[in-house]
Amino acid sequence: MSTPILLQADVIVVGSGPGGATLARDLAQQGKKKVLLLERGIDYRSLACYGTYLGALIYSDRMSLLFTQEGLNIVRPLMVGGATSMYCGCAAPPPNWLKIKYGVDIDQPVSETMEELEIAPLPAELRGEASTRIAQAAQALGYDWQPQLKFMRPARAKNFQKACGARCMVGCRCGAKWNAAEYVDEAVAAGADLRTRARVERVLVEDGHAVGVEGFLGGTPFTALAETVVLAAGGIGTPRILQASGFKQAGVGMTMDVTVMVYGFIKERGIGNEPPMTWSWENPEVGYMLSTLIDPWLLYPIITTLKGPKYPLYWPRWNNILGVMIKLKDEVSGGVFPDGKISKPLTDNDRPRLKMAEDVCHKILIESGAKPDTIFMTPLRGTHPSGTVRIGEMLDTNLQTETPGLYVCDASVFPEALDRPTVLTIIGLAKRLAKHLAA
Ligand SMILES: Cc1cc2nc3c(=O)[nH]c(=O)nc-3n(C[C@H](O)[C@H](O)[C@H](O)COP(=O)(O)OP(=O)(O)OC[C@H]3O[C@@H](n4cnc5c(N)ncnc54)[C@H](O)[C@@H]3O)c2cc1C
Repeated sequence: MSTPILLQADVIVVGSGPGGATLARDLAQQGKKKVLLLERGIDYRSLACYGTYLGALIYSDRMSLLFTQEGLNIVRPLMVGGATSMYCGCAAPPPNWLKIKYGVDIDQPVSETMEELEIAPLPAELRGEASTRIAQAAQALGYDWQPQLKFMRPARAKNFQKACGARCMVGCRCGAKWNAAEYVDEAVAAGADLRTRARVERVLVEDGHAVGVEGFLGGTPFTALAETVVLAAGGIGTPRILQASGFKQAGVGMTMDVTVMVYGFIKERGIGNEPPMTWSWENPEVGYMLSTLIDPWLLYPIITTLKGPKYPLYWPRWNNILGVMIKLKDEVSGGVFPDGKISKPLTDNDRPRLKMAEDVCHKILIESGAKPDTIFMTPLRGTHPSGTVRIGEMLDTNLQTETPGLYVCDASVFPEALDRPTVLTIIGLAKRLAKHLAA
């Protein structure tokens, strides 16, 4: 039997998505604390499979075939950079209610980040002709669609127009899209100790205080000790670690920003090869967000098979699809359970609001030129597993659990569904926590 590995640090950060990467970078750059960053996946960026359909299957949990008990498909990338390796690069400021209702003010770190990463909409000529056609149709109907803020800098890519497309959702190969793995690089450059293939199983608590974590490092058992432990393993990973550590409330209830796409077909070129989500509109009264998006080419037949046998037959016409994505502000329901199951039922209040959003998408697609008899809605899916260790319930406003020294800093902490891109909010929370821990 191999000898257990022992590691030591001042702060342990578990998970290298936007929450963990930002926190590790800021703490390491402050230079006051020894930071250990533990990530269960590896860094795929330099491998040939990165940014390919095969890669997306390799680095997603259960080869992208992870489903809730109700059949919602969840794409859960497990790799350095977390889900930002496969996200659409959209940015949105945190919702006002986070500050007003929950007392969590991250305005300053968010504006710092917007400046540092030059977050802005894509220039008009790069937003995609068909995507812009959808936005103009929506505007003509009175919906105030706006260019979507992006974590994308086309100037960083050699040939953004040719390289980008929904393909960047399997991993950005052109380099235009910011990825949290870049913050991991900066953390390491500032002295953080990054261990990949480090799967944390549980938190160690002594005399009521967190003292470290244990798990497996490349298959060998390891223990890591530190006075501060921050879980940033994502909306599914973090509650699982807490459950295994005896926190029974973790994972009870979750939010997901439940997502569907509404598709319609046109004769001309659709939005499939255009950058994803270049335009969007939020309806805060009803609680949903709409944006331009369709499934990447290879995912289309898989997702539409779940809808019914006739839908994958339209695959050859993938190039002619106009699509509007709905993200619903779903109520807290279901959860992540210790037996590995995940449940995310829609509530009685969710269903009619989703129907209202679907009706608006129908109108917009018809106005954009789609034939009404080609319009259909894809099955439900979940791209933002979150709200599983909520602020105000399991966490105080500094993101600390009832156990001193144990913090959470990822999408788990959302007290309600964000109903918008999550990453900028998570970065803001992590920067704020880095300041708090330094103090
Ligand atoms: C297809 C897709 C498109 C998206 N598009 C957008 C978008 O355009 N804009 C936006 O803002 N958001 C988008 N999102 C959502 C966003 O990417 C996530 O909400 C965000 O990355 C969550 O950050 P996180 O820090 O909570 O966790 P994650 O990014 O999930 O990172 C968690 C990390 O922890 C690691 N981990 C898990 N368990 C363990 C363990 N036991 N031990 C050690 N490490 C562990 C994982 O491997 C992972 O690297 C998208 C998501 C998907 C899937």
